[in-house]
Amino acid sequence: MACEDAVMATNDDAAQCKRFAVEKGYWNDPYISLLVPKGKSGHAPEINRGYYARVTAIRILKQKFIEMANRECQVVSLGAGFDTSYWCLKELGLNPKSYIEMDFSAVTSRKCQQIKSKKVLLDKLATEDGDIMWSSSEMHAGDYHLVSADLRKISEVEQKLADCGVDKSLPTLFVTECVLVNMGDKFGQVMVENLRTRDCLLHGVAACASLDTQKQRFTSQGWTDATALEMMTVYTHLPKADLQRIERIEFLDERELLEQLYTHYCLVWAYQDKSAVGLKDINL
Ligand code: SAM
Repeated sequence: MACEDAVMATNDDAAQCKRFAVEKGYWNDPYISLLVPKGKSGHAPEINRGYYARVTAIRILKQKFIEMANRECQVVSLGAGFDTSYWCLKELGLNPKSYIEMDFSAVTSRKCQQIKSKKVLLDKLATEDGDIMWSSSEMHAGDYHLVSADLRKISEVEQKLADCGVDKSLPTLFVTECVLVNMGDKFGQVMVENLRTRDCLLHGVAACASLDTQKQRFTSQGWTDATALEMMTVYTHLPKADLQRIERIEFLDERELLEQLYTHYCLVWAYQDKSAVGLKDINL
């Protein structure tokens, strides 16, 4: 249990870091301050830039996937924590047919409470009849589902996806943002195998063993192809004008520190494009 507490605490840490970077102006997210309480201290510019690269790259891939599928798709975020993407995508008119978030019940119950208490968040939830089904740790609201599960228990994950009415015929993007990194490689492999039974693309920020090993994790399980990029490469692929803007926000004393930080992580995505929406071309 102590171990699970430590894993869940990684969400508080990630959420606080993201909120801090948003307040500094690294990227726009009007919803994060509604979900995540203000943290105590500031973070080094290197940390802020690291989060900027991670959030921006994942946003780009998510949006491209949804656009390619003409919004006729699903997003399943495993270990979603206090992520705000559902609301941000909706504001852009890029909401998928269904957005499903899963995490430990201790995390989802806190997220449920925050959503319940914030009118701005509640108003964005689409429901056909205005009804939202709540329990203490789960909610179902038309195109948004927040459910609890232990991701190590595959049958529990399957059951919860079924409860959310997941449609196996739709292109589905599984997102594991800094989740498998906490769960051990063996489990990560099980997840990769299991998700392949669907028509989907998956990407995550992972501990960077070697880029080839990361790719093989997917291709050896029958995914059509996979891409793995070191975070430093990801950074250089982000839109130039935005990079110039964020590099002016804070002065970076030691670029080597940032580069060191980036070598620990990579971004991986894989696809098998059963619905032929063109996932082969998805890129930053
Ligand atoms: N994806 C979010 C982000 O990037 O902001 C949160 C990342 S946080 C580092 C990792 C999340 O994965 C936590 O919310 C944690 O509770 C969740 N998680 C890790 N292992 C899990 C498991 N076995 N079952 C359910 N959730 C898990």
